[in-house]
Amino acid sequence: MDGASSPTAAPILILLGPPGAGKGTQARILQDKFGLVQLSTGDLLRAAVAAGSDAGKAAKAVMEAGGLVSDDIVIAILGDRLADADCAKGVILDGFPRTTVQAEALDDLLAEKGQKINAAISLEVDDAEMVTRISGRYTCGACGEGYHDSFKQPKAEGVCDNCGGTEMKRRADDNPETVAQRLEAYHAQTAPLITYYDGFGALQRVDAMGDIGKISSDLGAIVKVATA
Ligand code: AMP
Repeated sequence: MDGASSPTAAPILILLGPPGAGKGTQARILQDKFGLVQLSTGDLLRAAVAAGSDAGKAAKAVMEAGGLVSDDIVIAILGDRLADADCAKGVILDGFPRTTVQAEALDDLLAEKGQKINAAISLEVDDAEMVTRISGRYTCGACGEGYHDSFKQPKAEGVCDNCGGTEMKRRADDNPETVAQRLEAYHAQTAPLITYYDGFGALQRVDAMGDIGKISSDLGAIVKVATA
């Protein structure tokens, strides 16, 4: 990567942060507000596991243990999705990159298309808070809208505010043991990316401990400038 990102026709934003920091929730809000595509490697991998593809079979046990899936698998999955036509309008990467190898692969993928990232935004939170947040969260099985037992319940119990769906899902890896492993993987392998992106002036930090609305307005302000 050769210096700070410059705005491109198709904005490329990265959300960094530990599990439970709110990357998925905030990516969905930014997607709606800015007309970008949320790209979550966690979602892509869960779909691969559900489909029983070779990548999914290789990823399943690692995901259940809270480790990181191999760079080769994740980069291939992300690269395929990034080539889809809808991504031409710009993307918010949620959960990718998670290692320096992935960050460098992303730089190369974008450089092939004459693109650079516009900003890498670090959602800053406390580890202790993360366990509480993760253990209470669930999503609508139909549209993916996120909810939480304590912080964000649907207006009518069990009914999605967004689409009216009634099948709510909790992730298998949102249990205390796996969450501890996922936090460890974050600190060992992903947190160094904060320094990586800071090194070329692309890093922005957001206090992600407070209210969802306040965090999304802070993020929105950053994205507006980064994609202007
Ligand atoms: P997430 O939905 O982002 O919390 O990801 C769920 C799980 O998928 C993680 O705990 C990892 O096992 C795997 N995963 C998602 N994204 C990546 C990535 N970029 N690199 C490696 N593993 C990943």
